[in-house]
Amino acid sequence: MTAKKIDGLALAASLLAITRDDVAAFSATQGRAPGLAVILVGEDAASTVYVRNKLKQTGDAGIRSYEHRLPPDTSQQGLLALISDLNLDDNVDGILVQLPLPAQIDASKVLIAIAPEKDVDGFHPMNVGMLATGKPAMVPCTPLGCVFLAKSVLGNLTGLEVVVVGRSNIVGKPLAQLLGLENATVTIAHSGTQDIGSVCRRADLLFVAVGHAELVRGEWIKPGAVVIDVGINRVTRATDSESAGPQTRLVGDVAFEEAMKVARAVTPVPGGVGPMTIACLLQNTMRAARLRAGTGTIGI
Ligand code: NDP
Repeated sequence: MTAKKIDGLALAASLLAITRDDVAAFSATQGRAPGLAVILVGEDAASTVYVRNKLKQTGDAGIRSYEHRLPPDTSQQGLLALISDLNLDDNVDGILVQLPLPAQIDASKVLIAIAPEKDVDGFHPMNVGMLATGKPAMVPCTPLGCVFLAKSVLGNLTGLEVVVVGRSNIVGKPLAQLLGLENATVTIAHSGTQDIGSVCRRADLLFVAVGHAELVRGEWIKPGAVVIDVGINRVTRATDSESAGPQTRLVGDVAFEEAMKVARAVTPVPGGVGPMTIACLLQNTMRAARLRAGTGTIGI
């Protein structure tokens, strides 16, 4: 049996097309494009690439971007002052602070300073609490993208046995809450879970967000399950002696080839969850713009 490879790039492209139309309609009626401010502190290589991709796609969608690149030694006070200005800026509908932040800055103090209605990452405690209590909220982009991907294969998730491996605040926990709102039966597994392979094997729908290359093996997967792999891990590629220098490649948290032999459908890495995260960020920005213009709700 060979599983279907879930095409995150294609799904993201269709979501982006919808957002582009929404942006055009908003701009025509409001006399301005939705605006997204992106703040990058320091020069972390991966963060720089993520921000570059986000800014490019923001422009492609017709959303106006405001890029703020701050030096690595930026003080917490300086960053909070910038966020305070952006909170008051009428042209800015969404504010994104790229994580991780340098050690001198307390990320929790930064995230709480963002106006909840401009919190397009959904990390503000008010949005976290709203989601946890099933109220309309800004929902974190990666979990939102994961649910879109699962529904693209399965449609309705009601009653499904779902396992989420990983319980971080930015992926695992909000994902489990979203799945609960979809009426799935959700188990959260983590580093303390005993016999995690058996727990995963119960799942009709398995999400993995741990940050360990190929942790989930084929024998952990129930035959016919749908597998959504959030992990992004850079590993050294096996090279022959002729090749010049070390080479690396990206792999997920799931052993992809093994999963393809057992599952019904699997997301690849890259090309699965990653593109959906950005597409959902732009959709959240559009939603925030509508909310601020009084022409929409943020609904989950
Ligand atoms: P965190 O490190 O914040 O959380 C990892 C979670 O995995 C923790 O809950 C941890 O458990 C659990 N875990 C770690 N090791 C094991 C193990 N051996 N068995 C079971 N559970 C384990 O990671 P993130 O949630 O931020 O990210 C996870 C992965 O997703 C990373 O590879 C990251 O790069 C990727 N990512 C991808 C995104 C995308 O757009 N595609 C966006 C965000 C993240 P415990 O709580 O017990 O410590």
